Amino acid sequence: MIKITDLEKYYRTEEVQTVALNKLSFEVKTGEFVAVMGPSGCGKSTLLNILGLLDDPDGGSFLFNGVEVADYNERKRANLRKHNIGFVFQSFNLIDELTVFENVELPLIYTGVKPGDRKIRVEEVLEKMQIMHRRNHFPQQLSGGQQQRVAVARAVVNHPKLILADEPTGNLDSSNGNEVMDLLTDLNDQGTTIIMVTHSEHDAKYSHRIIRMLDGQKVTENVL
Ligand code: ADP
Ligand code: ADP
Repeated sequence: MIKITDLEKYYRTEEVQTVALNKLSFEVKTGEFVAVMGPSGCGKSTLLNILGLLDDPDGGSFLFNGVEVADYNERKRANLRKHNIGFVFQSFNLIDELTVFENVELPLIYTGVKPGDRKIRVEEVLEKMQIMHRRNHFPQQLSGGQQQRVAVARAVVNHPKLILADEPTGNLDSSNGNEVMDLLTDLNDQGTTIIMVTHSEHDAKYSHRIIRMLDGQKVTENVL
């Protein structure tokens, strides 16, 4: 599904240039669950932004389902992104002014799904995430664990082939964190490919393979 080769990314600020990704290469097959670990500043967020088609690399190759997307412009990236990729963030990133239902409905509006179909699909995924009873609440009325369940619902409502998760349990206590990891595991069992950045060795054990990074490079890769 994903093959990156010698991926490079630089940030230039005034006179300094930071190398965020330094010829990074790895492959993720369809159906895999991969954890990416490494110290702060090693390039994990930069990597997720590129894999999520939010940003483009400065060098190297990025094959997404066999298609070279490294040189895609923002419009082409956005189009591929909204149909193929779901995001889960540490801070949930729900919109406070929208209800649970409306937050989960958003990706379906972006992809042009008709209102009647949207209702069916939002309710289906809210049931699955066991948060249906909170459909008319606003994010701030929910506990952290509940907010992350809504965020996972929003990530999967378009049935993406790939989920990118950035520290998905970082703001949760261990019981809510395990619940979210179980949800991700279920989605992976149903065929969704998952790439998760984490600092937690515990969470990484839910994956099939751990890629460890340092200074924008891959240092080790171990299969669990
Ligand atoms: P991580 O997610 O592993 O903490 P990042 O991908 O955020 O690492 O950062 C990798 C490197 O790039 C770091 O040295 C960071 O300071 C730098 N960096 C990230 N984003 C920017 C930016 N927008 N401008 C300048 N430097 C950045
Ligand atoms: P947690 O310990 O899981 O973070 P909280 O202690 O925040 O949970 O909340 C306990 C319960 O009360 C949860 O079901 C949560 O959704 C609900 N709750 C918390 N704050 C509000 C609020 N402002 N309005 C409605 N329900 C709330």
